[in-house]
Amino acid sequence: MNAVRLSAPWLLPIDRPAIRDGAVLVGDNGRIQAVGPADRVPDPPDVQSSYLPHAAILPGLINVHTHLELTGLDLDVPRDRFPAWITGVRAAKSVRSRETFLAAAIEGLREAHRSGVTTIADTGDSGTVIEALQQVGGSGIAYHEVFGPHPDQAEECMLGFRDDLDRLRRFEGPRVRLGVSPHAPYTVSGPLYRAVTRLAGELDLPVALHLAESKDESALMMGRGKFAKAWRARGIPLPDAEGMTPVAWLDTCGVLGPRTLCIHVVQVSGEDVDLLAQRGVSIAYCPLSNQRHGHGEAPLLDFRRAGLRVGVGTDSVLSVGTPDLFAELSFARARLGASQALRLATVAGAEALGLDHEIGSITVGKWGDLCAVEVGPGDSGAIEDRVLAAGTPGVVGTWLAGRRCVP
Ligand SMILES: [Zn+2]
Repeated sequence: MNAVRLSAPWLLPIDRPAIRDGAVLVGDNGRIQAVGPADRVPDPPDVQSSYLPHAAILPGLINVHTHLELTGLDLDVPRDRFPAWITGVRAAKSVRSRETFLAAAIEGLREAHRSGVTTIADTGDSGTVIEALQQVGGSGIAYHEVFGPHPDQAEECMLGFRDDLDRLRRFEGPRVRLGVSPHAPYTVSGPLYRAVTRLAGELDLPVALHLAESKDESALMMGRGKFAKAWRARGIPLPDAEGMTPVAWLDTCGVLGPRTLCIHVVQVSGEDVDLLAQRGVSIAYCPLSNQRHGHGEAPLLDFRRAGLRVGVGTDSVLSVGTPDLFAELSFARARLGASQALRLATVAGAEALGLDHEIGSITVGKWGDLCAVEVGPGDSGAIEDRVLAAGTPGVVGTWLAGRRCVP
């Protein structure tokens, strides 16, 4: 039984202006049946009805980049030594069992729900996040990662990868989707990128990849920097990318298209941004992670000017400490203002994932994914600013398809 009616002093549908004394009715099927001023939204006697004093009701938030399998991990390597940090992440993961990954993914998902997030887009290679989504009854896309920097590994990598995908598809459902993630230009060869892209097309799966994140990644394209040094030491041929940016090189691999989510996208030229827009990719904007690693700042305003779809992501616990989508939004708020920042975590995030027909706003017919943020009494200041100021500690409830997932 998912039917629920929520009302509060404020309701922010996002697809239209905020409603004073608003209400939303979610039906038994978990879909929104009515939304508007409370006195115009039906209050059926058989539906559980709650009034949330001092709160604003919002669409459930969308975090377009997580690594939930890493929940609970800690690392000693400084974040600004990126190639060494990447090696440290690998080592930390290598000693985790599948059971531990699954428990971590479930805990990460619950934490996300507690912070108002109802949909996640996750990358990982343990295959446990999609299982966690199914077990907990969550919503999201689990992009399964593949690694393989040596071109000669591509065929073998693809054999194992296909098997993994076959195994993981059984966890798919109406709210749970599988995707693929050829990890990053410093861990994946050109032939592997091409093969994964072909397979994603065949299987109709979305793609996510880390792109143009560190300066060392750009330097690798020129045969310089720490990644290039490590590749040479391991006898791995460097990418055939002389003079190209990571974005331009990936484009030669055919990876960039409307089903591709590009994560980070910091080390980019104006031409790169134009190319990404031409290809119709979407962007996962992860400002805190980019700052913590010393990568710099992604050109959010340029992305938006170019018409790119942009959502906001937290990245992993190892990059940012406790993932906090509201903390990420404070960066966006400084650039775009509170109202547009909130759109990034709701309807724009849904667009970035190709899920805007299902989630991202409080709209009749969409899933009843909601969160409530306590903004306090009174009327001073714009409601969007008050919601962002309240932040994660202000989240007092989260509902997925009408079902309360946080007490
Ligand atoms: Zn990441």
